[in-house]
Amino acid sequence: MNALEAERWLAFDRQHVWHPYARMPSDEPRYLVTGADGVYLELADGRRLIDGISSWWTAILGHRHPELIRAAQIQLERLPHVMFGGLTHEPALRLAERLLAVVPRGLEHVFFSDSGSVSVEVAMKMAVQWQAARGNASRCRFLAPRRGYHGDTFGAMSVCDPERGMHRSFAGALREQLFVPAPASPFGGPVLAEDVEALERAIVEHGAELCALILEPIVQNTGGVRFYSADYLREARRLCSEHGLLLIADEIATGFGRTGAMFACEHAGVTPDILCVGKALTGGVLSLAATLTQPFIAADIGRGEIGRFMHGPTFMANPLATAVAGALLDALDALDWRERVLTIEAQLRAELEPCRASPRVADVRVLGAIGVVEMVEEIDLSVMVPKLVERGVWLRPFGKLLYTMPPYVTTARELTEITGAMCAVSLEPSA
Ligand code: PMP
Repeated sequence: MNALEAERWLAFDRQHVWHPYARMPSDEPRYLVTGADGVYLELADGRRLIDGISSWWTAILGHRHPELIRAAQIQLERLPHVMFGGLTHEPALRLAERLLAVVPRGLEHVFFSDSGSVSVEVAMKMAVQWQAARGNASRCRFLAPRRGYHGDTFGAMSVCDPERGMHRSFAGALREQLFVPAPASPFGGPVLAEDVEALERAIVEHGAELCALILEPIVQNTGGVRFYSADYLREARRLCSEHGLLLIADEIATGFGRTGAMFACEHAGVTPDILCVGKALTGGVLSLAATLTQPFIAADIGRGEIGRFMHGPTFMANPLATAVAGALLDALDALDWRERVLTIEAQLRAELEPCRASPRVADVRVLGAIGVVEMVEEIDLSVMVPKLVERGVWLRPFGKLLYTMPPYVTTARELTEITGAMCAVSLEPSA
């Protein structure tokens, strides 16, 4: 694409096309991507940027992974889509089998959907239907820690942090859920008594109306990329079991190795009743998500008045997406991903540490292939992003957070470019 064409498309984009969480017409810097290769994005002007955020945490094996592309090509020729009502197909079945083998033991049923938010809606509906089927129709409210984020649809928004979250403007239109303070117990340490007490108090006082606790295990991502104690998750599991609440683990961001474990729940040895996965599931090729449950949920829903679970997206278990996801799990298996994530973790720790020296930096933290530099002040995207791009790195900071979630195949040299750019923009006085 020549420079004139690129300029015209960018002008058209600014005037006519909505982007995530953006103004219309747009006022943010925007870049035209014409291709991608491994960890690199290719811009229309010929520049190459390292995708240090794995395209919103999806492309964990880099872009255009040959096995994923091949799986898509084969499936495209064979059967790109077919309805799932009354019909079934091998890519979905293979993927379900592969998923059930890697998720925490005890989860046995899979419900496929098209995006993370929808998989959360499905989880919430399952919890409500489960309680109703057991004669507890009044238990239809959700409990969630503050600082959580679960998606942009209405049910999911209702369990996101009610004040700090990006959904504040919809408060009046949302079902009022119950919130406990965000876990303050740091990862690697024991749970603080006040964290458990807050959970326990909420559950004891409101148990009669609560159907489930929904949380992001170990890492609260969009709510601040905060890492919390595995003991908190264990306590949450215990309290839910004791008081008849379902535990819904939203691993849409943490699933598939990001925290150093296949699923973050593994850090606590906990099996949730319902698990949501998405994002990295297709390695960033197509949109696909899944909600997995323990068998007692399906059995109880089956005994309820309706007897069937009432959800069924048109593109449920899309063959193309499920074929690619199956290939992603194979490719992940073939990669020594645990070793790679550990290596990335060690390098992120070493190379981001100098950022702490800046008075503009409030905190530096790392877990698995997640590296965060938290600034004291809000980051101005329109200032910081072009500076990162100048240094050949694509990152998308938000709030006070400059963070990286690189593909697991990022080399040590490429990772140094990412951390170097992060240090440079956080250390210089006016970023
Ligand atoms: N849950 C979590 C933890 C997420 O991070 C996200 C997306 N950032 C979602 C749900 C929503 O997923 P999607 O954007 O695919 O709807």
